Amino acid sequence: MPCQRFFHSAGSVMLTTIVLGISTAAADEYLSGIRWERPPIVTPGATDDAPPSDAIVLFDGKDLSRWHNGENWTVEDGVMIVGKGKIVSKDKFGDCQVHIEWSAPTPPQGRGQGRGNSGLFMMDRYEIQILDSYDNETYFDGQAGAIYKQTPPMVNAMRKPGEWNTYDIIWTAPRFHPDGTLKSPATITALHNGVVILNHFVLQGDTPFDRPPRYQPHPEVGPISLQDHGNPVRFRNIWVRPLVPPKGIRVRPPYIKKGDQEIPVEVDPAIADSVLQPGAEVK
Ligand code: MG
Repeated sequence: MPCQRFFHSAGSVMLTTIVLGISTAAADEYLSGIRWERPPIVTPGATDDAPPSDAIVLFDGKDLSRWHNGENWTVEDGVMIVGKGKIVSKDKFGDCQVHIEWSAPTPPQGRGQGRGNSGLFMMDRYEIQILDSYDNETYFDGQAGAIYKQTPPMVNAMRKPGEWNTYDIIWTAPRFHPDGTLKSPATITALHNGVVILNHFVLQGDTPFDRPPRYQPHPEVGPISLQDHGNPVRFRNIWVRPLVPPKGIRVRPPYIKKGDQEIPVEVDPAIADSVLQPGAEVK
């Protein structure tokens, strides 16, 4: 093999070292010209299910004080159980990460949409379905993990009734122009028990039963709500992290650093600045 022959020669090895040394010293480096702020430090939970240090804990097993209408649901043994009427978080969120654990009633009762039905509503209007979809047929865009009436989940990752399911959700809120027209739709990525079920799905609007989805302008932030569909679904360990994009400012145009030389590079400004947030300072 040529490679082995090469390294069997001490002289060749020395030559290689010299060449590598020179090329390292002269390596070109691309620099974006953006000065980034240091990302904040977040201390993760003891497990990936536990809330990180910057999470807002909406339910930790103790009480429903962070929810409107919480007095009409019950808490038993560190678990909350669906009661009368939906509960709505007092906190409001825009873009966010959500962790929620839920368990369908056991033994299972009813079928289809009548078995273990609840729902997690982002901004109190966009539902990711909660349903006992273990060995329980229903319309696919209404099963667990569906964006209700818009799309089924990619796969059914449901655990048996009585076992605990997790949803881990990455939510991008829709944006509206000042005149109320849609600027950008909501998107959702979701994992069910660690399995990706929605991959940056673009929502068509809200998720009612009786009419097509549509967007109606609403504030930049909104509460999370949990549905009462008449079934005693149980919940635990609910936390949310508002998502804040990295902050940076452009301090100079992009360039290549070649030793002591700085060589400007032509990059379409729309592409070069696409990583900056709207309104970011450009010096
Ligand atoms: Mg539902």
